[in-house]
Amino acid sequence: MRKYIIMGVQGCGKGTQAKLLCKAYDLAHISVGDIFRWNIANHTKLAARVQRLISHGELVSDDIVADVVKSRLAEHDWNFGYILDGFPRNAVQAEFFLESYDIDAVIHIVVPDDVVRERVLSRRLCSGCGLDYNLIHHRPRNMDICDVCGAPLTQRPDDTPGAVADRLKTYHEKTAPILDLFRRKELVLEVDGMQPADAVHQEIQMQLGLKSSWR
Ligand SMILES: [Zn+2]
Repeated sequence: MRKYIIMGVQGCGKGTQAKLLCKAYDLAHISVGDIFRWNIANHTKLAARVQRLISHGELVSDDIVADVVKSRLAEHDWNFGYILDGFPRNAVQAEFFLESYDIDAVIHIVVPDDVVRERVLSRRLCSGCGLDYNLIHHRPRNMDICDVCGAPLTQRPDDTPGAVADRLKTYHEKTAPILDLFRRKELVLEVDGMQPADAVHQEIQMQLGLKSSWR
């Protein structure tokens, strides 16, 4: 049984890494964002509760997130283990979580803020077919035009320099205490997220002791 938490700022590639690890070791990818998106798409009671909060201008509380994770873990469909993504959201939650569940490691994917900023600001989205582009890694053949359908590429409304700066600030404020707590328990592995995705995957496996050498 392998039980991991994956952490890193938005744009660090943690979704990709979680998927690669899950595929390689048959783990369940427990992504809080995916669970919420699934609930909203399927019009569940939870979605109604969340939408009520949002329509009243409130944020989805940490309690709701904790409940969602607890009930997801209670499904016990993770025979070989799981990777938690998007949880815990604060040090109190992390502490409670460690009292009830044991964790083998916290995978912290480290990417400097200026690189995150550059990655996020170079994201483009096709206004026609919805395909994702990135002006660094996945450049369209013609600037600002979708290769597939020819529609203009746009930026997500929240991918502005100000919004990215706010997200980075919030991320560091919220995660620093969580990482400190996990570090005191010697659970944190720091992985360099600046490498290509495949190399990051190899490094994670080596640091977790799942693989003894390169390839
Ligand atoms: Zn398109």
